Amino acid sequence: MRLILLGPPGAGKGTQAQRLVTKHGIVQLSTGDMLRAAVAAGTPVGLKAKAVMESGGLVSDEIVIGIIRDRIAEPDAAKGFILDGFPRTVAQAEALEAMLTEQKLKLDAVIELEVDQNALVGRIVHRAEEAKAAGQPVRKDDDPEVFKTRLAAYNRDTAAVTPFYAAKGQLKKVDGMKPITEVAGAIDAILGG
Ligand code: AMP
Repeated sequence: MRLILLGPPGAGKGTQAQRLVTKHGIVQLSTGDMLRAAVAAGTPVGLKAKAVMESGGLVSDEIVIGIIRDRIAEPDAAKGFILDGFPRTVAQAEALEAMLTEQKLKLDAVIELEVDQNALVGRIVHRAEEAKAAGQPVRKDDDPEVFKTRLAAYNRDTAAVTPFYAAKGQLKKVDGMKPITEVAGAIDAILGG
């Protein structure tokens, strides 16, 4: 099974992706997680991405497309994957399509979590508080000011990815404002249970 989860930062893509990983035995490919790992490891990609990520901007298409190209080729991705946080631009969506066509692979679904953007800052603040309470590191970009920049980047560059898939008849929408279990149920219904 190969899926894309779309939606603005804080929409719940990561939460739903983790559940689908367990349910379907596929891997979650989060470009955000991969970039954070690169930053933590101080790799050349991490060094290039660090400042952009901390400011809430988008890392270059070239970098993230390269990361996904390599990751999709790993053996554990052969059974299927969920893309979470990629594609974030139409150029990334086009590059992904070319990669999949080249490997004769098809997407099973593209699911957008539709949310009220006004509620998202509150969710992000909550996520930061939860991480802190659990003794986990708090993401530097889970800060209300940086979050505004992330949302602006979404509206400027990523919102156009949704019509890209809608035009291909691949887009399904789910109400991401519902409780996590209901969102999960709606996703499962799309995926056939
Ligand atoms: P996320 O964990 O998906 O919210 O991503 C955190 C940050 O990583 C984003 O704010 C961007 O700076 C960067 N990032 C993650 N995925 C992408 C992508 N597909 N394209 C560009 N930048 C990305």
